[in-house]
Amino acid sequence: MVQPKKEKITSIKGMNDILPPASARWEWLEEKVRALMARYAYRNIRTPIVENTALFVRGLGEVTDIVEKEMYSFTDRLNGEALTLRPENTAGVVRAVTENSLLRDGGKRLYYMGPMFRHERPQRGRYRQFHQIGAEALGFPGAEIDAELILLAHSLWQELGLANIRLELNTLGEPAGRSAHRVALIGYFEAHIDSLDEDSRRRLHQNPLRILDSKNPSMQSLIEGAPQLRNYVDAESLKHFDRVTQILDANGVPWSFNPRLVRGLDYYNRTVFEFITSELGSQGTICGGGRYDYLVEEIGGKPAPAVGWAIGAERVFELLHQQALGSETCQLDAYAVLPDEQLLPEASVVLEQLRRCGVRVQMHSPTNAAEGMGSMKSQLRRADASGARAAIIFGTDEFARGTCIVKSLRDGAGEQREERLQDAARWASGLLTSAIS
Ligand code: ATP
Ligand code: MG
Repeated sequence: MVQPKKEKITSIKGMNDILPPASARWEWLEEKVRALMARYAYRNIRTPIVENTALFVRGLGEVTDIVEKEMYSFTDRLNGEALTLRPENTAGVVRAVTENSLLRDGGKRLYYMGPMFRHERPQRGRYRQFHQIGAEALGFPGAEIDAELILLAHSLWQELGLANIRLELNTLGEPAGRSAHRVALIGYFEAHIDSLDEDSRRRLHQNPLRILDSKNPSMQSLIEGAPQLRNYVDAESLKHFDRVTQILDANGVPWSFNPRLVRGLDYYNRTVFEFITSELGSQGTICGGGRYDYLVEEIGGKPAPAVGWAIGAERVFELLHQQALGSETCQLDAYAVLPDEQLLPEASVVLEQLRRCGVRVQMHSPTNAAEGMGSMKSQLRRADASGARAAIIFGTDEFARGTCIVKSLRDGAGEQREERLQDAARWASGLLTSAIS
């Protein structure tokens, strides 16, 4: 009986597979990030992907794009809890730090990498599952930490070789100043209520600051004329901001002041910043962050200052691609060729020995069971195509003598020597390539 063909199950819109060889670029970036974080003394933190919905509602603010329309929320079938796939990870980190009293013995410098989920319209640089690299420093009030985090992100661009990224800074001041500004803003926008779009009208009394964040082109001139937050920023915050910029200047990090930069989330105070490139259209922000001295308390912890940023990994890859950067090679040192299946057990012992010595070696394996291992010639063709620098040939005659042939496939192709199977640990070093750059 003919079975009906099963319908294909596909991935979810806006959620992408990361496949080889492109996945090697991810590993390459992750390695760079880990090495850099270590140099700045930031330590890895891993929190769950699912959190209580309340964490994000309280942490991000009710009138934000994320909480209003982008969260993947669901009810736990067993106990009715309201849960959400994390749309970002600052709230989760703050929750974990608070819950585990990590600030008991002083400040903490932390970083994470991982998937985030937002129900947005998928487009280039905007996905429903995307990945963030984030750094958070908790428990430090000083401007030097704001600067340190900015220097860290700046160094990452340098490490990756990326160009054409500008840094924009602003200071939001403190809650008292923001309240006064808010009153002034409401007054201003009420006087121009007819020019407001629907979103903005709704936000007017809830969160008028967010109107400044609007991307609606027809509102830009109105926004241009609105009362400026910088006139409401307190002296201490201005001093803090100056200290941040002095450190950036001393290190030759260029920046520009953008008084309209408010960031999409409620929890920021004082320094806010974005790294932006003009090469990715309207998805040009590759890193955003700032100080959030009130979030720890908001989430129920003992008040503690904090500052952090998050990088959008997919956008960084887009930019790397645009600038023809990034490594996609997964180099192979050797490809093992073995015409006689009978020799497999003994040959495998040699390969295991080589691998223990750090050699990256791929064993020939037939993809069609009926064909067996295939001819020596076809196996060597595979070896060549694999990109390996050498072939290890377990020929029957050599095997009987306790040896194998190591044949160069790249520089000096054709060169070969006979090596003793027993001495693999000794000749392994000759197969090692230098580490991937
Ligand atoms: P945008 O204004 O582009 O929507 P955002 O303010 O919502 O960005 P943040 O919440 O600050 O972004 O997240 C930090 C970074 O994560 C962004 O600068 C961006 O690089 C990346 N990012 C945010 N949302 C997405 C997404 N849906 N797909 C891919 N990357 C994203
Ligand atoms: Mg967004």
